[in-house]
Amino acid sequence: MQRIAHLIGGESASNPSARLGPVFNPATGEQSAELELAGITTVKEAIRRADAAFSDWSARTPINRARIMFHYKQLLEENKEELAVLVSREHGKTIDDAKGSITRGIEIVEFACGIPQMMKGEYSANVGSGVDSFNTRQALGVCAGITPFNFPAMVPLWMFPVALACGNTFILKPSEKTPSCPLRLVELAHEAGVPTDVLSVVNGDKEAVDTILYDQRVKAVSFVGSTPIAEYIYQTGTTQSKRVQALGGAKNHMIIMPDADVSVVRDALIGSAFGSAGERCMAISVAVCVGDKTADKVRDAISDAARKLHVGPYTDEKSDFGPLSNQVHMNKVMSYIDKGVEEGADLAVDGRNLKLQGYEGGYYVGPCVFDNVTDEMTIYKEEIFGPVLGIVRTESYADALKLVNEHELGNGAALFTNDGGVARHFVEQTKIGMVGVNVPIPVPVAYHSFGGWKRSLFGDHHMHGPEGIRFYTKMKTATVAWPSGKNAGPEFSIPTLS
Ligand code: NAD
Repeated sequence: MQRIAHLIGGESASNPSARLGPVFNPATGEQSAELELAGITTVKEAIRRADAAFSDWSARTPINRARIMFHYKQLLEENKEELAVLVSREHGKTIDDAKGSITRGIEIVEFACGIPQMMKGEYSANVGSGVDSFNTRQALGVCAGITPFNFPAMVPLWMFPVALACGNTFILKPSEKTPSCPLRLVELAHEAGVPTDVLSVVNGDKEAVDTILYDQRVKAVSFVGSTPIAEYIYQTGTTQSKRVQALGGAKNHMIIMPDADVSVVRDALIGSAFGSAGERCMAISVAVCVGDKTADKVRDAISDAARKLHVGPYTDEKSDFGPLSNQVHMNKVMSYIDKGVEEGADLAVDGRNLKLQGYEGGYYVGPCVFDNVTDEMTIYKEEIFGPVLGIVRTESYADALKLVNEHELGNGAALFTNDGGVARHFVEQTKIGMVGVNVPIPVPVAYHSFGGWKRSLFGDHHMHGPEGIRFYTKMKTATVAWPSGKNAGPEFSIPTLS
């Protein structure tokens, strides 16, 4: 059995007596590797190295770090196929989908290539007589990233390229369910020229995370995962005087107006609800149809399309989506579907009994469509994170918007309509971090920033783009006067502009 350890100082750091966790291939349900779960000593060694490497790395010119990012982008492009297989083998998503997520990650590296421009400060001449003022952005020190199972390439790439380009050093703690791609990403970063002590990977669980959170040398923590853990990371990290951005779970609504083209809605919904088996924090899981006529049309169209989807392993090119990532999660998704039936929702498409010949041990759940979901039901209130779409019927746009705004999660939301006035109102009035008009998955591009509102994000900064730079740097403002030969003598009251 393959044994996966950590990557500390560029070396595979293995400890024969480490605790171990299993890694599975969700397509077959077979265990593919055993993973070492880092204890305190292992994590502290990675932090020690990152702390010692900070002074030299942060003193490099931004253009030097940018050139390493250019080289890194090239290596990621060259190795995209291999990386995609690593993602699919441990997560289960199709190869095309894995490649798409890697491309989105590479776009963050491209953004990080522009770091000299992004780190530029502001300058004001003559803020006082013979006095100039400017500000610079400086790196924080050791930063850490804790990432979820569903995007083993993209989410780590949201974090460390930006942190490193700004001059920080970094410890990555990926999900223990999908460790292989993050390790390879970091090996390639070293190959591109990132000094080995500047970037390490520690694999592990709560013990590794808590060691990061309580170590005073770690100055900032980026987290992406479920809401309860995001809240824990934020509360613990901030009481330890760290900067924390902690992105949590989602329940993304799509409001469908009566004037929307049903075939456009169907195609948008089918990909955004079922792509990657619904294991995306920007997946649409609730279709809010305004008016019964709209709901009937959407239900028929989406049910027909869902029944035609091909669910299968990543090795089958015909697969539209693959299995869920692990047995525990599959059981959780199944229990939500059972709960929906129990609570009275109308299960129009039932994907619970999917069996694939030759893949009986895999974690497959077929597409499920519930109609007549209400805001009282568990399947409406909670994130399912599986291929399950709920249709909610409302009488008016105002009622639909109220649902979106009253949900405790606020990652993404979309509106499908041809009415510019309604669209404008939606963009302005939604209490949601990322909104789309006729765009089902409004994920911001690399040079904008990604993040939700309400209990989908704890902290003040979104990820990557300008917010990423702000998160990974602190501002310093200098006020400078050079000797002019005149000495005005001591001043005892606050100087004012003159
Ligand atoms: P998770 O919260 O279980 O795990 C995320 C990370 O936290 C992992 O690295 C894990 O090892 C660590 N962790 C787990 N339990 C911990 C504990 N008790 N103490 C300390 N650390 C702990 O999330 P997951 O199941 O890997 O990922 C799925 C979740 O991530 C979903 O809720 C999804 O919506 C969310 N997600 C959100 C975004 C976003 O941008 N908002 C993006 C992707 C995924």
